[in-house]
Amino acid sequence: MKKISELDQDLLAIAYKLTKREGYAVLEYIIKNGESTDEEISKAFRVKPNVVRQIIYELEKNNLVKFRKTVDPKTNWVTFYWKPNREFFKTHIEYKRSKIIEKIKRRYEYEKNNMFFVCPQRCIRMTFDIAAQYDFRCTKCNQVLEVDESKNKMVKFLEDVLSKTLQK
Ligand SMILES: [Zn+2]
Repeated sequence: MKKISELDQDLLAIAYKLTKREGYAVLEYIIKNGESTDEEISKAFRVKPNVVRQIIYELEKNNLVKFRKTVDPKTNWVTFYWKPNREFFKTHIEYKRSKIIEKIKRRYEYEKNNMFFVCPQRCIRMTFDIAAQYDFRCTKCNQVLEVDESKNKMVKFLEDVLSKTLQK
């Protein structure tokens, strides 16, 4: 049996969170025993293969395990060998990053395509349409709103952030 690495411990923590105790136990078995088949796991836990498959399905759905598959040329019997997906954190970070970039892009478009008004006291900042609804007065202190000149700075800033993150 192998010692559980720090990365695998993190993987197990995620498994516990996403697939409960069953997923944790099965993943722990796979980590400790190396590549394992459904049959091996079901024997080890003394549960039916379909129960194990259900748990593995949950692990796979959450990207926590990967498989290698072999087909017996005589019987066409397919065997799946499961192993921990140690790229989990890599893809997870990529995913997070793409979500963040998406958010910045949306903000950038929003800033670029709208005209903003601000209260001289900095209580609020609103788009032209909303400011018009309030007769271009601050909803908090009633002062007349001004065109937000800092907008271009914000647009430029977001543009820089985007060009930098997309280069990486
Ligand atoms: Zn105000």
